Amino acid sequence: MHCPFCGANETKVVDSRLVAEGQQVRRRRECISCHERYTTFEIAELLMPRLIKADGSRQPFDEEKLRAGIQRALEKRPVSVEVIEACINRIKHRLRATGERELPSRQVGEEVMAELRQLDQVAYVRFASVYRSFQDISEFKAEIDRLSEEKEGHAS
Ligand SMILES: [Zn+2]
Repeated sequence: MHCPFCGANETKVVDSRLVAEGQQVRRRRECISCHERYTTFEIAELLMPRLIKADGSRQPFDEEKLRAGIQRALEKRPVSVEVIEACINRIKHRLRATGERELPSRQVGEEVMAELRQLDQVAYVRFASVYRSFQDISEFKAEIDRLSEEKEGHAS
């Protein structure tokens, strides 16, 4: 990049370090011509994929909507805001890590279910019952039974 002081296009990097918990690279540069120093920051551009809805329409990823869905499932459950935010970050990370520019929106739902299953079984069942809209009550009961079996499995 051109020197912001004199416009020369030859600069050298005199120092380079990771900042913001490794999310950014901070570089000190020195202009070869005027020897002024300046700092640049480099951040990886990671865009969230767009979501393909069941009807084929595309929507931008909506973090607020994701958060609202998770909070609704976790209403009155003993789960802290920090834990919820960490869970949202993991979901976003996994969606970005696919490298896809578009993903079926149900993939977000599956990710939320995977997180809630680890986090809070009541919230998981709440979310799953709305999200998967269990076909009938026996299917719902089978899921509950499966969960309680798992829980007993952990206890022993
Ligand atoms: Zn310069």
